[in-house]
Amino acid sequence: MTTDLGTRPGSAAVAPPARSLEDLVGRTPLLEVPLPGLPGSVRLLAKVEMANPLSSVKDRAALFMMRAAEEAGLLPPTGGTVIECSSGSTGISLAALCARRGHRCVIVMPDNATEERRLILRELGAEVHLVPAQDGLMAAWAYAEELQRTLPGSWVPHQDRNPANVRAHYETTGPEIWEATGGRVDVLVCGVGTGGTLTGTARYLKERTALHVVAVEPARSAVMSGGEPGPHGIPGIGAGYVSDITDLSLVDQVVAVPDEAAALTAREITRATGLTVGVSSGAAAWASRTVATDPRWAGATVVTVFPDSGERYLSTAR
Ligand code: PMP
Repeated sequence: MTTDLGTRPGSAAVAPPARSLEDLVGRTPLLEVPLPGLPGSVRLLAKVEMANPLSSVKDRAALFMMRAAEEAGLLPPTGGTVIECSSGSTGISLAALCARRGHRCVIVMPDNATEERRLILRELGAEVHLVPAQDGLMAAWAYAEELQRTLPGSWVPHQDRNPANVRAHYETTGPEIWEATGGRVDVLVCGVGTGGTLTGTARYLKERTALHVVAVEPARSAVMSGGEPGPHGIPGIGAGYVSDITDLSLVDQVVAVPDEAAALTAREITRATGLTVGVSSGAAAWASRTVATDPRWAGATVVTVFPDSGERYLSTAR
């Protein structure tokens, strides 16, 4: 009997054993998404970031920020303290790296973050400090900085102003998309939380090809569209301000997505692909379809990012 490696489940080229968690970050697949309502000539490809070890795009940023801190001597190899403000994904990625290295990890999280996120953080050994979501992100950052003063020697990655967050995507996400598409990418559609994914990925790709970049934000906190910040239902994007690391000069178009559209589209993707994706993936796909209906993009390849899995939102699913 012969074995056809090409038709086997899994990848044809089997990777050698990984030595650590860090080796498992990145090299995520691009999946062709048969989204209902997408013009037939448009190919929609999604970067499936739930394939990272801690199941989100933030594994990349957490790893690059931590390595930069180690190289700069801001964090010892072990026994340090890391404090970060996160709606959950970055916190979970940092907590995993801290567990492996033997650091204390303190995550400041809004009290509306899902129960799953709190449970995963505690499982990884992190301390979770909940702050009122209604006070906004700025108040949460102020709380984290206050905490830093009480814990001498602690390091705060500050993902919304840390250049290593952008570099993670410039050095990994962008090159991976370039390689997987053979350089054939016309449109990049990307949700903006800290702006790290969009800025790093768009910068890398725009240096190589004529690319149309679409930033995605919640309609109820449409600050890039000139609106007011506000509470919304798309976790991970729409921080309510444009972060220091977001390079708006890379952005050609902004699409604001209603909460309900994001949630419904996430479910559409799940039913069409079998992948349970998070709400911000639904927002990215809804924006992709909106852009793709413009006849200008007939025959185009649209690449988007699905930042995480829907499993961490099931307890709050509608
Ligand atoms: N979606 C989810 C679920 C996220 O956790 C994040 C990161 N906060 C994003 C989208 C946006 O990524 P970035 O911070 O790189 O803009």
